[in-house]
Amino acid sequence: MKLPRNRSHNERLLARQLKSRSTFVLGMPNTLIVEPGAVCSLRCRFCPQSKQDFNFTRGLLNLRDFQRIIGYFEPYLDTVMLFNWGEPLMNPDIGRMVAYASAKGIHTFIHSHFNSLDEALAEELIRGGLFEITASIDGVTQESYAAYRQGGSLERAIANLRLLQEKKRELRADSPRIVWKFLVFRHNEHEMESARLLAGELGIPVEFKFAVTDGTISSTLPEFSSDRPAEKFIRHYGLPCEQLWKSPTIHADGTVLPCCMVSHSRFCAGNVFQQEFGDIWNNEKYRFLREVASGKKEADESVFCYYCMFGRRRRVKGQDA
Ligand code: SF4
Ligand code: SF4
Repeated sequence: MKLPRNRSHNERLLARQLKSRSTFVLGMPNTLIVEPGAVCSLRCRFCPQSKQDFNFTRGLLNLRDFQRIIGYFEPYLDTVMLFNWGEPLMNPDIGRMVAYASAKGIHTFIHSHFNSLDEALAEELIRGGLFEITASIDGVTQESYAAYRQGGSLERAIANLRLLQEKKRELRADSPRIVWKFLVFRHNEHEMESARLLAGELGIPVEFKFAVTDGTISSTLPEFSSDRPAEKFIRHYGLPCEQLWKSPTIHADGTVLPCCMVSHSRFCAGNVFQQEFGDIWNNEKYRFLREVASGKKEADESVFCYYCMFGRRRRVKGQDA
């Protein structure tokens, strides 16, 4: 595969190929989702990683392997999301990963449950240049918080949110941007106003988000209920299928997930520690997925799109998600 000349050439290629929904992509990813390790101290109810049948490896990504990944994609990379199916702050190298990527001008993002932060790590993340961190805290009482974030401590999560904000002030740092994400369910929707007040006191924006549930704990508020989940997901988070053209997910063992929604290793496309990425990016599986995502072919059971809500929506309505 012939590589793009530079970052701006790559951006032009990606924009063109995303627009035309080309099945063969000449551009390189400008965004990576890298899994620091599919391990977590919590057991959230709808998290695939919490389930017995989760079959990705649970080892942690080490710094050297992270540097290998970044080294390969670096000329084209704008963003690295350091999270997927696990809790990123449980990887002891996370601060060094952030610093390594940031020093190369790459924006780093983390989503965390904020139970595993301490003062030293807070300082390391700030000094390392972390661009944005999102705290997943769904409630302002332990009872409603732990109804979903099973095993988590609300007191610790809020204390750590405060700690990071104070450390940022102490170091007079502009980043990371700190965001509080509150998934709205039936059991916590009455706490939204209190969360707004607490967020105001902390000086941190709170974002109320839709959660995909089985309906039993779904919010009664129309915007956050489980009706029309694909539409709501797109409204809150954007359409994940575009990842097929610009942002693969790389698991801690090097496995490439064509899309971050993939929650079983049998739907993966290759392994960057065992193959050239160029041989994965346009292989048969990737090209088939792009045809499916652009409505040129029907998904079959060999691809995760068949099971995913966006793929189902396309099959039912005969339209592009
Ligand atoms: S905190 Fe995140 S990684 Fe951990 S169980 Fe919950 S959703 Fe999964
Ligand atoms: S249909 Fe689902 S699994 Fe397939 S690319 Fe889109 S979001 Fe990913």
